[in-house]
Amino acid sequence: MLWKILLLIAAIAAVLYGFRYMNRPPSRSASKRGGASPKEAQPDHADGQSVDLVKCPNCGAFIAPGTPCGHCKAG
Ligand SMILES: [Zn+2]
Repeated sequence: MLWKILLLIAAIAAVLYGFRYMNRPPSRSASKRGGASPKEAQPDHADGQSVDLVKCPNCGAFIAPGTPCGHCKAG
């Protein structure tokens, strides 16, 4: 009968260990689960080959953002 008690204690210990394992601080698993892989996080035009063009408010020409318009010389 002693092995039954030992088995019960082992089962309880296993359950407690499992609960403790599940209730761990989620910092590790959350970053693993929620964070997308670096490859996915990269934008499509990370290499700078194609940038999102913005419309020049002055002449309507599409220019790269942050650069002066070469059509109307507007800042
Ligand atoms: Zn312009």
